[in-house]
Amino acid sequence: MRILKFGGTSVGSAEALERARDIVRGELDARPVVVVSAHAGVTDELLSLAHRAVRGRYSLRKLRRRHAELYGEIGIDPALADELLDELDDLLRGLTLVRELTPRTLDRVASFGERISARGVATYLHEGGIPATACDAYDLGLRTDSRFTAATPDPACFPEIRRNLKQAARKKVPVVTGFVAQDAKGEITTLGRSGSDFTATLLGAAVEADEVQIWPDVDGVMTADPRIVSGARSIPVLSIAEASELAYYGARVIHPATMLPAVERRIPVRVRNTSQPDRPGTTILAQAGSTRGAVKSIAYKRGIYLITVESSRMLLQSGFMARIFEVFARHDLSVDLVATSEVTVSVT
Ligand code: ASP
Ligand code: MG
Repeated sequence: MRILKFGGTSVGSAEALERARDIVRGELDARPVVVVSAHAGVTDELLSLAHRAVRGRYSLRKLRRRHAELYGEIGIDPALADELLDELDDLLRGLTLVRELTPRTLDRVASFGERISARGVATYLHEGGIPATACDAYDLGLRTDSRFTAATPDPACFPEIRRNLKQAARKKVPVVTGFVAQDAKGEITTLGRSGSDFTATLLGAAVEADEVQIWPDVDGVMTADPRIVSGARSIPVLSIAEASELAYYGARVIHPATMLPAVERRIPVRVRNTSQPDRPGTTILAQAGSTRGAVKSIAYKRGIYLITVESSRMLLQSGFMARIFEVFARHDLSVDLVATSEVTVSVT
């Protein structure tokens, strides 16, 4: 089996959806499982609706229009989202009354984006001649702890997912909700913003997929930010360690922690561009060969604080660094870079 994950933009417009459908069609022999994000912009709108609702006023008009227009454009029933949007409306009305927004409720509100898009995408594939069925990831068995808004999956659920997904994939292409899961009590949780990639690698690990493909609408990992360096090229192969460093230092790559479930099991994660499906994209592996002396990519971060601590008392002292870092730890600050000399320490 092969996991194909399409992010919000890749299922966010009629053109993008058409490209996604062609990609799925081209992978049918590999027995694809499709993972989708909410249509672009929907999660942001859902979270903002929740915050408006606790303050007493909200309107679902924009969200209804977003789905109705998109579904109208791709020729599926625009009323497809109505049932879930009505359920969301009830939930939001409840929030205007209780005037309290817990992380648990926030996750429940956020889950509607993927629950709707999985149904929309499955219907669209189906109408295009690809038998497909929408699946909520928690119905397949995806379980997490109860840390709402940033829940951690429990790998003990993999055998169940494997069984259910194999069953679901027998006759149709499963279209699975990214981002959402459930805790042991059956409450809806989410894996954190952009969590659909994580869903993809978790499902990939559970079914021991031959490959996990992440399909954003940009090239894989590039040698530099293409908005700044026009000659930036995509990097064919990266190790997970290299991808982690790049993400950490600001490259806009898929978050490496979310690739771990697959990469740990030697399942390659390929990041490919929906607008350029012929290009190979970037493959992330547990280990990747390096060219000696070659710089693979340049990343940058803005809005960084640089703190330089200087003390002549540091000279030939022990434990000075430990004392400095204890202060950062106490304030829960993560230090990115450290440079030291004998009497100064600079950290970002
Ligand atoms: N829809 C969720 C978000 O916008 C998850 C995802 O896109 O991966 O964060
Ligand atoms: Mg996204």
